[in-house]
Amino acid sequence: MTVDLNALAQNYAELARRAGRAECAGVVKGSGYGLGIEPVASALWQSGCRTFFVARPSEGQDLRQVLPRADIYVLDGLYPGQSAFYQRHSLRPVLTSIEDAREWARRTDKSAETSGCALHVDTGINRLGFALEEFRALLSDTGLVSNLSIRLVLSHLACADEPTHPMNERQLAAFWQVRQRLPDVPASLANSSGIFLDPRFHFDLVRPGIALFGGSPVAAGPNPMQPVASLKARILQVRSVRKGETVGYGATWTAKCDGLIAVAGAGYRDGIPRSLSSSPDRAPAKLSLNGYSCPVIGRVSMDMLAIDVSDVPSELARRGQEVEIFGTEVPIDSIASAAGTISYEVLTRIGDRAVRRYLAPASR
Ligand SMILES: *Cc1c(COP(=O)(O)O)cnc(C)c1O
Repeated sequence: MTVDLNALAQNYAELARRAGRAECAGVVKGSGYGLGIEPVASALWQSGCRTFFVARPSEGQDLRQVLPRADIYVLDGLYPGQSAFYQRHSLRPVLTSIEDAREWARRTDKSAETSGCALHVDTGINRLGFALEEFRALLSDTGLVSNLSIRLVLSHLACADEPTHPMNERQLAAFWQVRQRLPDVPASLANSSGIFLDPRFHFDLVRPGIALFGGSPVAAGPNPMQPVASLKARILQVRSVRKGETVGYGATWTAKCDGLIAVAGAGYRDGIPRSLSSSPDRAPAKLSLNGYSCPVIGRVSMDMLAIDVSDVPSELARRGQEVEIFGTEVPIDSIASAAGTISYEVLTRIGDRAVRRYLAPASR
């Protein structure tokens, strides 16, 4: 897997431009969506990103090693009994409940650098966060609130990738109520897709994840982002098949005529969804061999998959050549949709067996 840190920097710049006056943070949970926390976080910092979000406290600890001065928020909230851990690494919990808040208020150290937090208010996705009534109850407990050091209030959109979905306006209206009750605290609502809705969703800080890493933030139309990750597999063997022969486990694919297949070294152990296997009911996924489009045939197995290379020039359809599974020629969103999933899942499941190579940003 090649990770183009220059493309990442360009994506950050583009999202920051679209965010206008709002600060552009970086969501780097899951080791930077599977691309590797150290290179990803360093490249974002060099691009001017100063605020980061991770899911787990341990991810925050790893990120802190890379970025000693960044503001780091932990989206999971406060793990019970772990205030001291957050403080040791200057991690800000994104508090999700009154219980969380009470525990954070009891932390021992109240010094400014190690002591901030965010509030997550649920405006309709019903995942993490204070319910609106619970948020009101929290604010009426002024003693508690004054002990929290609230630096950010945020909420998360359920349907931002569908611009006309009525949930967006409903959540926006609910979030306005929230921010009016904490007028001095910076507010944040938009993930990647939210940035592309309209500026009313930007508030003071935007939180893109997938768009930084090249996944499309818009469901319809061309992807405005540059591809960042590209995954390639080596061809292990090329073989001819005769009309009527089958390929792979379950003998699910039958040659309609004599042809040539290539077996490439990437399988579900590497995170290639098994649902990318060919099926008689739908068009096959297409991988790229030096720009030649090659359908996946038969079942994806643990360590390999097969493609049809009958129409590829023979100097390319050879052992040792590399097939692009996604990247600059095969959009990650098209592979994800062929596998019945989304770019997020494809990207974050690429296994550790895939060696990560980093293309450094152009020096400035
Ligand atoms: C993961 C996450 C994001 C980033 O979402 P993308 O769709 O990848 O941009 C933003 N906010 C919260 C609360 C998240 O959990």
